[in-house]
Amino acid sequence: MNIETIAIGIKRMGWDEFRESDMWKTIAGLVKCEAGYKCSLCGSTERLEAHHNTYENHGYEWLYWRHDLVCLCRECHERFHKNHPVSHRPSIDTAEQKRREHEEISRAINNEKYE
Ligand SMILES: [Zn+2]
Ligand SMILES: [Zn+2]
Repeated sequence: MNIETIAIGIKRMGWDEFRESDMWKTIAGLVKCEAGYKCSLCGSTERLEAHHNTYENHGYEWLYWRHDLVCLCRECHERFHKNHPVSHRPSIDTAEQKRREHEEISRAINNEKYE
């Protein structure tokens, strides 16, 4: 299995299927570990989830997780998606939305840090 084959396999999965996959669970675990098991927005240590800053590298999460994924608690994650009702399913059509989403969350994280 080379990098491209793995990426094609991931992209073929439905989003729900991917979220249930061992690979996603492993990656989400790494994201949480890297974040010190704390929400990057509020610092909560409960109900942590991995959120995609960008789907640009979907299929290559295991290479780009440090850059593309962020650890959020469920509360912040839900609030974020409520304010930004973009689906979790990556598609080319939503690339621009995703870019904005990325900027938004970077800003939120930075504000949190420097307030
Ligand atoms: Zn939070
Ligand atoms: Zn998310």
